[in-house]
Formats: sequence, structure tokens, C-alpha cells
Amino acid sequence: MIASERGEVGLAAGIELLRAGGSAMDAVEAAVRVVEANEADHYVGVGGLPNLLGEVELDASIMDGATLRAGAVAGVTGFPHPISIARAVCDRLPQHLLLVGAGAERFADEAGIPRGETLTDEARRLWLAGLEPEAIEQARATHGGGEVAYRRQALAQIQAMSPPEGPWGTVNVLALDATGNLAVGVSTSGYPWKYPGRVGDSAVIGAGNYCDNRIGGAACTGRGELAIRAGTARTVLLEIERGADPQEACAAAVARTLDLPDEFRASLQALCLTPDGRHGGASTASGATYSVQSADEDTFTVRERKQI
Ligand code: ASP
Repeated sequence: MIASERGEVGLAAGIELLRAGGSAMDAVEAAVRVVEANEADHYVGVGGLPNLLGEVELDASIMDGATLRAGAVAGVTGFPHPISIARAVCDRLPQHLLLVGAGAERFADEAGIPRGETLTDEARRLWLAGLEPEAIEQARATHGGGEVAYRRQALAQIQAMSPPEGPWGTVNVLALDATGNLAVGVSTSGYPWKYPGRVGDSAVIGAGNYCDNRIGGAACTGRGELAIRAGTARTVLLEIERGADPQEACAAAVARTLDLPDEFRASLQALCLTPDGRHGGASTASGATYSVQSADEDTFTVRERKQI
């Protein structure tokens, strides 16, 4: 299994299932659920940072490399585990692939998926603090000018609204099971301060998630609008088909976004796992990593992504 930054907390749960003969789909779902439950992670599931209105809206997707079936949900509120709703769409609603908002929540209720609080006090505090003028300027050092522009427009939009009541990041998990099946899961609370109803790449098959046993699995984190515009996860696999190794495939796919005009540009990352167990990652940011663990290892190791 491989996972993006902050996904390592879920690898033990996924590996345990794989050791017991579980499927890649089960391992991915189990691992992502651990990340979604981790309140210290403010970009996924419970504890995720809210949108402009102070509401936590979650996106997730899962794709099965054996069948190329997928399930995805977007703009879900009040459910801590959107990956399990996405899995249920994949397994139990084969006439559809992507459900949003109230429809996704209705389906989750029908599927018996538990509701739960997703906004934590800490996430609300960070949401407010991140819009302080000083915090906006400090964001330039870590995230660059695009993030500063993004927060400024969010603040301007909030100021133009009637005051709301009360108040980025994502996880990718990729697994290869003993039968040679691949699966990819992605879950996110999307950009903090996003416009309500905004859907990122995490829920969009081909953009933030793609999986095909014949080629590999790929997933993205970071500036979702770029991954959607460039079809980045699918592009990683096109590069594999052209003979690139996983790291080079990720680097080439991410590089295709560099020339796209975007005044809110932020970093974009990709990860890839192939059916023969090779893996790699790339990022536009320095110091980006991912984690890897196989069934015969006691713990994960951290690998560097290629910076482009
Ligand atoms: N890719 C996510 C999105 O666009 C955000 C992120 O990974 O930072 O919603």
C-alpha cells in the first residue's frame, strides 16, 4: 500500500486486511476511514476545515482496478466517512457513479451509513484564525501567492455576506492485493473557505483518482482545479502506458499543469502504484513525501517525491 502525506496513520488497518486475504478495495476503504476519523488532520473527514459558510463539506472517491467501477460523493455534510458512502455507491448503485449533496446523504441513510459531527472546535478555530490578515500574509511563505490570493477572495466573499452563524488537503491511499487487484481511495474536506458546493478533484474520476489493473493506480492531492482541468490521475496512467516509471509518470502528468493560467495556483502532487508493485510520486512543492508498507513489513517507510 502507499499513501499520501497524513495517510500513513491508516496503513496498518489496510495491511492487516491484506494479510488476512482481504481485497484492495477493502484495504483502501479501511485505511481511509482511519484518516477520516483522525481529528488532528484538518483536511479529511472529522476535523476537516469548513467552507466559506463554516460548514464542513466532504468529497471522496474509490475505484476498483479489476472492473473500472468507481463510486464518488461530493459536498457531503454530516457524515464522518464519505469513503464508505463512495464505496456503497460503487457496490450498491451500479447505475450511477457520483452523488452530490442531499442525494448522497439520502443514499447514505438508506445504506445505513452512520451520521456524525464533522466540525470540531479546533477546525473552527483554525478556520477563523486563517483569515486573520497576519495569517493570510504568513501563508505566502509556506503556500505561495496563490494561497494568499485565495484567502483574500474568501475573506472578501465572507465580508460581503451576512455574517454566518458560528465559524486544503486530501488523503490518497493505493493498494495492491494478493490476487493482483489494485484500488485507489481519495477523501478530502477540500479547500478551507471554499465556495459552498465547490467540488474538487478528489471526487472526480480521471482527475484526482484513477485505477486500472492493466496499467496502475494514480491519485492526486493539492490544487484540485488544476487536476480536473488536466485530467491528471488519468494522465499519470497514460504516461505509464508510454513506458515511464511511476515517478516519471507522476512528474510528467503534474508538469502538464504548469502552464495553465491560474491566479490561485498552489502545489499539486501525484502518486502512482503499478500492478507489479512499483510506485512513485511527484510534487510541485519541495520536501513532499509519501509512505509505503507491504504486507511483510511491520511499519511504513517514508519516500521522497520528485520535485518538478
Ligand atoms: N485536492 C483537494 C481538492 O482540490 C485539496 C488538496 O488536496 O489540498 O479538494
